[in-house]
Amino acid sequence: LNGQTAALPTTIFTVMSALAQQHGAINLGQGFPDTEGPAHLVEAAAAALRDGRNQYAPLTGLPELREAVARSNARFYGLDIDPASEVVVTSGATEALAASFAALLNPGDEVIVIEPAFDTYLPVIRLLGATPRLVRLNLHDWSLPRDELAAAFGPKTKAILLNSPMNPTGKVFTQEELSFIAGLVQEHDTYAICDEVYEHLVFDARHTPLMTLPGMRERCVRIGSAGKSFSFTGWKVGYITAPRALASVIAKTHQNLTFATAPNLQRAVAIGLDQDTGYFTELSQGMRLRRDILAAGLSDLGFGVLPSDGTYFLTADIRPLGAATRPGEDDVAWCKRATVEAGVTLIPVSAFYDPAGGPAPSHFVRFAFCKQPAVLEEAILRLRNWV
Ligand code: PMP
Ligand code: GLN
Repeated sequence: LNGQTAALPTTIFTVMSALAQQHGAINLGQGFPDTEGPAHLVEAAAAALRDGRNQYAPLTGLPELREAVARSNARFYGLDIDPASEVVVTSGATEALAASFAALLNPGDEVIVIEPAFDTYLPVIRLLGATPRLVRLNLHDWSLPRDELAAAFGPKTKAILLNSPMNPTGKVFTQEELSFIAGLVQEHDTYAICDEVYEHLVFDARHTPLMTLPGMRERCVRIGSAGKSFSFTGWKVGYITAPRALASVIAKTHQNLTFATAPNLQRAVAIGLDQDTGYFTELSQGMRLRRDILAAGLSDLGFGVLPSDGTYFLTADIRPLGAATRPGEDDVAWCKRATVEAGVTLIPVSAFYDPAGGPAPSHFVRFAFCKQPAVLEEAILRLRNWV
């Protein structure tokens, strides 16, 4: 057995979803929408199955999807991408991340990861024999500690993992922060792996891919996900945009991880990417409404709600709740009690911190608001009766 892998806990999303099910709780934990994505995309996927799209897709993805990815990059970000050599379709962003790490990293390399961090990054980096260098966002407002970030770059740095809009914080990195990061990447002659799965879920700011900043076109691997952009998290279709030299190596890791991705889903995602801009605007506006409902309700109950400018998550400090927390109780214990006693499931934010970086903050919880407004209202009501 691989001891490192065997020692990993089961992911917090699975643990909390199982607990939610066991107690019949409203699941605001694992991030998946409770409303289906566009019906015409489901129809397109079903029709493609009937059309005989049931054998292996091409290694780097169906040409029609790669072309749609390139068009989407041009439409939203002004990027000029060659669909033949600069796009790789993967089985979800999860595979895209693993394929990108495997393409870039040699044993002994360092990757800078900003915490709180989505839970697949560190295990894959370590499995490849590379070392994560952890930099923690400031706790009061999730701002970037620039001096610490600059100090983390060194001769062994191969890449930085940048997740913006960011899970679990809902942070959208500011233009100034992006420029600062781009400066460091260039100064140290490194790469950026950009997890941009929530690119179309931004509320108060615009999403800017790091790849669009001066000097960054050749240094970035940009990752998107149909699960997030079309509300089909079960489809697991991801897409990578990268300069040819990187994309060609990523294609080789992808060929050995999964080789190809379901062709009928790829066809539907191509149609999804080509939808009117109105679709994407509605998607983010609907999510913004849900954020506002949840943020207002939680603030009213006394939670210390932190701003969320994107994703479908927001974080809240439970300390101001006073009596609703027990002495010595951490975020994990509190989230379990909220599931059992209040019937509302959340995710403890400490799960997004690695113990190697020192004790994690234990007073933040993450709420997923990608649920129907009535469900969010019911969750607030349940919490009101409990806190
Ligand atoms: N990155 C982040 C930040 C995510 O939240 C998710 C969602 N699970 C993923 C990557 C993985 O996306 P996918 O479901 O397309 O594999
Ligand atoms: N990205 C989702 C979340 O953060 C779920 C990921 C998963 O279940 N692996 O909740």
